[in-house]
Amino acid sequence: MTCQQLIEFLTEYIEGQLPLSQRAAFELHLALCGQCRAYLHNFRTTIEAAQNAFDDPTVATPASIPEELVQAILRARRSN
Ligand SMILES: [Zn+2]
Repeated sequence: MTCQQLIEFLTEYIEGQLPLSQRAAFELHLALCGQCRAYLHNFRTTIEAAQNAFDDPTVATPASIPEELVQAILRARRSN
């Protein structure tokens, strides 16, 4: 798996929707690549911030959250 592929699979990984074989490749890459570990950490922090914002409608969505990430979170919430 390349860094590019890891980033493509990131949302599915976090949502627990990655098939086992891809999940293993994903975690192997994470173990070997500090850059992607940092990316995953930032991604999770951003999602938590976004979810906190969505849970409290009086809090505006932080401007630093990319629109595509907001859409991904909204899709994930709808599928629950
Ligand atoms: Zn990487």
